[in-house]
Amino acid sequence: MSVFEHPSFDNHEKVLFATDEKTGLKAIIGVHSTARGPSCGGCRFWTYDNSADALQDALRLSQGMSYKNVMADLPIGGGKSVIMKPQGNFDRDALFQAFGRAVESLNGNYITAEDVGVSPDDMMSVHKQTKYVTGLPEGKAASGDPSPTTADGVFRGIRACVKRATGSEDLNGLRVAVQGAAGHVGSYLCEHLSRAGAELIVADMNVDGLKKHVDNFGAVIVDKDAIYDQEVDVFAPCALGSVINPETIDRLKVKIVAGAANNQLATRDMGAALQKRRILYAPDYVINAGGIINVMGEIRGDFDPQWVKGKLAGLEATLGEILDRAENEGRPSNDIADEMARARLEEAAAAKAAAA
Ligand code: NAD
Repeated sequence: MSVFEHPSFDNHEKVLFATDEKTGLKAIIGVHSTARGPSCGGCRFWTYDNSADALQDALRLSQGMSYKNVMADLPIGGGKSVIMKPQGNFDRDALFQAFGRAVESLNGNYITAEDVGVSPDDMMSVHKQTKYVTGLPEGKAASGDPSPTTADGVFRGIRACVKRATGSEDLNGLRVAVQGAAGHVGSYLCEHLSRAGAELIVADMNVDGLKKHVDNFGAVIVDKDAIYDQEVDVFAPCALGSVINPETIDRLKVKIVAGAANNQLATRDMGAALQKRRILYAPDYVINAGGIINVMGEIRGDFDPQWVKGKLAGLEATLGEILDRAENEGRPSNDIADEMARARLEEAAAAKAAAA
């Protein structure tokens, strides 16, 4: 398994492989960039088949956090961590404390938070070993679960895309397929969409978790593999990454792809493939930045809901700028977003070097 030659290695400043035999911890922390401040991004707790898959996730996700944070104009860099879920029984508190010690060893270069599979209580375990943790359920500026704010941002992104595609931001009667609808973000997103009058088609590995959407919103459950075949207006991926790939792209019968999942495009050229099929794509890291904005409210030390709302409005403006440029230049929206993010990061790195 290569690291420096890895296709997802993008001059990451640091990659830490942390193990702890006693608790079974196997974690990878990717610090992609600290040009704009300490790297910040969630911790994913997942069953990986092997460490190569975990490394791939840590490298891609941490780069994505740099792009996300800079596009949301936050004074932080990009980082992310993954913990390989141990097989069999394990002591969850001890495991997350061991992870906390790994975070602490980076001396504030990386600040962690929740991602898939991680709860605010897990972050309390991490907090026993380090102060470089956010998304806590209690404390002076505790911001708690970031998912509602992420869902708010994604909903705004969907609405903005609908306005472009139909000329109206009225979602009444529009059909939206939500993948991962039983999850944290997916559930809150379903609430927003239903309140706006959208019809929901939902899928999740956790089928029981979808029943509340049937009862509350009249959602229609489809098999998790059938979610790509739905004739709907919007496909909202809110599960895991790489769901837009050569196997799925020709199955999509939608006008818009806009959701919460990180790294929705398996490869960059999937953006051009969507554009060719006249499918509007809202770059994931632009519209799913609500969670990190929420977390930033906690890092600032004075959680202010109005500041968060202002930043969410900023996301809509940035998405508008990207989609305008994509349309005017006839280029894929993900390429435009990447280009803007890289230019902003280079500017920050140059300013940091000049100040040193
Ligand atoms: P979650 O674990 O609560 O939800 C994910 C859901 O997806 C689960 O219900 C799971 O059963 C389901 N799922 C997994 N694989 C699936 C498959 N193949 N088909 C259908 N369903 C599947 O996670 P979350 O916090 O809601 O995050 C969802 C996505 O959004 C992730 O990609 C995450 O990185 C991204 N994201 C989350 C936040 C946040 O604030 N939580 C912020 C930004 C981005």
